Amino acid sequence: MFAHITFPLPVFEPYTYAIPESLADRVVPGARVVVPVRRQELIGLVTATHVEAPPSDRVVKDILGLPDLEPALSPPLLELGEWIARYYGAPLGLVIRAMLPGGMWGRSSVVIRLRDRAGIGGVAGDLLRWLAERGGEGSVGAASRALRRPVWDVVDRLTRVGAVDLEVRAPPSGPAAETERVVQLAGEPLTLIELDRTFARRPRQRQLYEVLEHAGGAAPWRHLRERLGFHDGVIRGLVGARLARVETVERFRDPFAEEPVTPLPGSPTADQADAVRAIGTLEPGSGAVLFGVTGSGKTLVYLECIGRALAEGRGAILLVPEIGLTPQTVSRVRGAFGDTVAVLHSGLSEGERADAWRVLRRGERRVVVGARSAIFAPVARLGLIIVDEEQETSYKNGETPRYHAREVAAVRARLEEARFVLGSATPSLETFARIGPRLLRVDLPRRIASRPLPPVTMVDLRSAPLVRGTGGVPWSELLDEAVRATLDRGDQVLLLLNRRGYAAFLQCRACGEVPECPRCSISLTVHRTPAALRCHYCDHRATIPTACAVCGERIQSVRGVGTQQLERLIGERFPSARIARMDLDTTSAKWSHHRILGAVARGDVDVLLGTQMIAKGIDLPEVTLVGVVDADLALHLPDFRAGERTFQLLTQVAGRAGRGERAGAVVIQTRHPGHHALRWAARHDSLGFLDEERRLRESPPYPPGVALVNLLVSGPEPEDVAARAAALADWVRGLAEHHDLALQVLGPAPCPVARIKSRWRWHVLIKGPAEALGPLVRATAPRLGGDRRARIAMDRDPVTLL
Ligand code: ADP
Ligand code: ZN
Repeated sequence: MFAHITFPLPVFEPYTYAIPESLADRVVPGARVVVPVRRQELIGLVTATHVEAPPSDRVVKDILGLPDLEPALSPPLLELGEWIARYYGAPLGLVIRAMLPGGMWGRSSVVIRLRDRAGIGGVAGDLLRWLAERGGEGSVGAASRALRRPVWDVVDRLTRVGAVDLEVRAPPSGPAAETERVVQLAGEPLTLIELDRTFARRPRQRQLYEVLEHAGGAAPWRHLRERLGFHDGVIRGLVGARLARVETVERFRDPFAEEPVTPLPGSPTADQADAVRAIGTLEPGSGAVLFGVTGSGKTLVYLECIGRALAEGRGAILLVPEIGLTPQTVSRVRGAFGDTVAVLHSGLSEGERADAWRVLRRGERRVVVGARSAIFAPVARLGLIIVDEEQETSYKNGETPRYHAREVAAVRARLEEARFVLGSATPSLETFARIGPRLLRVDLPRRIASRPLPPVTMVDLRSAPLVRGTGGVPWSELLDEAVRATLDRGDQVLLLLNRRGYAAFLQCRACGEVPECPRCSISLTVHRTPAALRCHYCDHRATIPTACAVCGERIQSVRGVGTQQLERLIGERFPSARIARMDLDTTSAKWSHHRILGAVARGDVDVLLGTQMIAKGIDLPEVTLVGVVDADLALHLPDFRAGERTFQLLTQVAGRAGRGERAGAVVIQTRHPGHHALRWAARHDSLGFLDEERRLRESPPYPPGVALVNLLVSGPEPEDVAARAAALADWVRGLAEHHDLALQVLGPAPCPVARIKSRWRWHVLIKGPAEALGPLVRATAPRLGGDRRARIAMDRDPVTLL
């Protein structure tokens, strides 16, 4: 008898091992096994048994033993892994690596622990004596060397009679950082004028100072160096100038452990109760879209559904886009279900993650809250999966396997006969297109207590009176006055400036026109050397026009101003306002987002400004004004979903206003007030938007009418990458022709973000029906990888084409 064994490696072929008679009943798919690989013993995972014998000229080794009494992966989870591997074209070993906590297999080693040595003699007795001499534990490898014979058979027997326990230990990965150095600001905070003076010739130190200030005054040294790129010299300089000091503190572990839990908000409203009932009627294996306007109380519906699952003796998974961004949701779930909740967050060590895994498998905890990878949590008797804010792109994994947790949730629900719920105020087109017999639509059409959705005022930046001298920040008199009035009332203001303007686009100052690709309907990107407008899907090129094609006005390129300029402007215009800024720079230190939100919730902040992070899932009842400084930034990213993302972002951020007792208002500044994304967002009307956007995606066709596969080529030399991309595109075209696949192959073209981390990036975009993309994915998968000069990656159903 033979078995297929996989390791956490990027290979498509499984390894074949023989199953010794004595282990036959326990070597089952999903089990961890110890096998010899060259001169080592590695832990692998069984993916199939009863497989064919390998060719007779190949040496087949025996499986040595099993560290567990039960398989590590249940049959449905293994089947789920196989589905992911097949659908996304990823090696099964890498899929399973994404599913299991790190350090559960591969180079891990198995340790024997002595439990009871009564009355056992022979080799087994020798082994037990050896263990006792060594303080009760030792690795299997060391025992084999000490006893001068392989001891797996003995170990196996001793495990079964309960004389020893086995434990899998992750390979040592350097000393665990239990403490770390933290850089902390010292002295009184500097005013803007003092900042200018102090750092006149030290811009980098100033940036560091500002980063620390916004991270709540402190950040780990390592984080500053490795994630934010501050050299040690810059940090030492700031310390030398006595503006900061360094302290050694214990590493921050579980930010939720000490957090107060939030009690339930009360009993469900009639709308909420109806939604819970509708979800309760779902057939096992099917799902619902919970489509509820912002502030309609989706969280309580989730909690009620989880409560019902628990009452039926089943478990539940609640996925949130990013655990650090959703402290309020986490504390509500813990408030409702207390100790049966496991929070899977990025602060867990590998050991803690493995512990969480074990208690879930044993059914000791039955509710999981976590981000993307929590979809693999081994919840016993899974009954319900909830995906909150299902449209969020963070549900898509950014590396192989590039799975989408929402899709995986639907497949897992089918395999385990669980129900799933996709919640959103702004559902994705993909999700909405699937509403039907297997995906029910459930609405929460009103806000709690029938509070009105805040009215939205659109400010046309082309014609509205603007405040002068704002350093490039578009700032209308209307928004200025709205902020002033809100602050005078003692309420809080939220200001959004999404500066993710990766690619420069042209926009006519007078009429707002943005040149687009005639074939792809995405904004053309401005290139400087050589000067041209280029399409980043199909590489269509056009000369940079000297006048607007629509109105004849002279053209100027629009660049995103950033949140820092906005902060400075607000500081100047509203000197007594307490300001907090939230963007990647200020929140990349773990949990600083958490701290900033806490300060806002306590009322220590008057104006919270930031990027899209401030738009999501937060419930701040004192916010009565939301201002969007430049709605056009996201609108003209070269991505066919730019309109959808803009609509979602604007609707979500608008939904932050007036959630409490006092009514709210929203001001959106734009040069494109007629764009459908803005028009529908101003009315909080997702249905209207979805309907219009779906029609726009028919020609040229984009999802959900067709599906996409993006092939990404990257490497250090631009010529190599371009050549490899061209060859790949030719190969794909040939394949499509040969197999008569109804596919459209676009490109190759440079990616909109043409270079990341000094690697050049090109892509080939393939459109077609899902039935034709499946064969393409499977044919392409073995060609992925590549070499030093060019790496090829495949992204099926990409969420971004940047
Ligand atoms: P969203 O649908 O935007 O996710 P939330 O779930 O955050 O909305 O709920 C919005 C607000 O309404 C929260 O402050 C919540 O505590 C409150 N809320 C929800 N349900 C009820 C209820 N049945 N009774 C009273 N308040 C509620
Ligand atoms: Zn094009």
